[in-house]
Amino acid sequence: MANIKLENVVKRYGDVIAVRDFNLEIQDKEFVVFLGPSGCGKTTTLRLIAGLEHPEEGDILIDGERVNDLSPADRDIAFVFQFYALYPHLNVYDNIAFPLKAVKVSKSEIDTQVKRVAEILQISNMLDRKPSMLSGGEMQRVALGRAMVRQPKVYLLDEPMANLDANIRVDTRAEIKRLQHEIGATTIFVTHDQVEAMSLADRIAVIHQGLLQQIGTPYEVYNRPESLFVAGFMGMPTMNLLDASLTARDGKSVLQLSHTDVYLPLSPKRQAAITTAAQENGLVFGIRPEHITAVNQSDPEKIAAEVHLVEPLGAVNILDIRLGTHLETQEPILLRVRTHPSFRVGVGDTIWLDFNEAEMHFFDQKTERVLS
Ligand code: ATP
Repeated sequence: MANIKLENVVKRYGDVIAVRDFNLEIQDKEFVVFLGPSGCGKTTTLRLIAGLEHPEEGDILIDGERVNDLSPADRDIAFVFQFYALYPHLNVYDNIAFPLKAVKVSKSEIDTQVKRVAEILQISNMLDRKPSMLSGGEMQRVALGRAMVRQPKVYLLDEPMANLDANIRVDTRAEIKRLQHEIGATTIFVTHDQVEAMSLADRIAVIHQGLLQQIGTPYEVYNRPESLFVAGFMGMPTMNLLDASLTARDGKSVLQLSHTDVYLPLSPKRQAAITTAAQENGLVFGIRPEHITAVNQSDPEKIAAEVHLVEPLGAVNILDIRLGTHLETQEPILLRVRTHPSFRVGVGDTIWLDFNEAEMHFFDQKTERVLS
């Protein structure tokens, strides 16, 4: 249906640079999620693609055609905001039919199209109802139906589930994913909810302060973060990120976590990858809570540390482990570790930790980019 390309796109509002030198190519039929914190530029980027905003610099291409100067109507795009945009005085049928009536499609064709999308969305039995007689999830489906009926080349969905209850969100999420596969239209979905992003996307574009930080599959952004921001943003709880340096110990070079007595041996290959950055800019060491194993039997090969806090979350426990104290601020240096609930420990207990080297991440402290 459509391939979308953004080339060096810049959007400013006065002194605010909402979108910075943005480069991204979205393939035909792909489901891409724009993910990032509030104010990072997700909506602005979407509005630029829709034609509701105009870039100061750069080009936007749809199927190879530069669309910078085309009006939204000429871009063949459907934009779905939150579901409250339904017309309250029109029933479901007329709400869905509205975009077709506006472009003077014949009555019989409208009827065919409305019934087709109503069937896909499983709302055929509600066509006579007014929006006030629908649940939030049903209203959401009607709003999607109104977008689908036009069969546009591209769907742009801006936090379409923001106002839904948590359980309806999960159902609607599954529905949107199923529909997108069925219809096969290129889709961009904006959210600040990483679970939503992980579950929906073919690829996630992580955005921070108007900059595209990383574009990759959910697996890639979670397991191979390319920047400190992505590493710290993805995951609940997030990745442990601690300052570190290379130091000599017993005649060998090892990694020391700053303000702690934790020394970790590293393979020669890993050392080679991080030495220059360690000497010039400093290192940030990262490891996810699930990539540290904890035991409660003394083991000289492992790292002994004290339990600071235990957070039981049901399926797993999260332990805050105290590794040391920051010399200047006197703040504790804490590490989060995920354990099975059957691993019984209390605050103040000593446990022994093992870090999986294959799952370690290193970032340049100055450039904040990954060192690989
Ligand atoms: P949210 O998740 O809160 O919707 P977002 O990631 O979608 O945030 P944008 O709405 O794209 O962020 O905003 C990006 C930046 O541009 C923000 O700093 C915002 O304040 C600014 N901005 C957006 N629209 C305008 C506008 N019309 N005038 C001035 N500044 C704007």
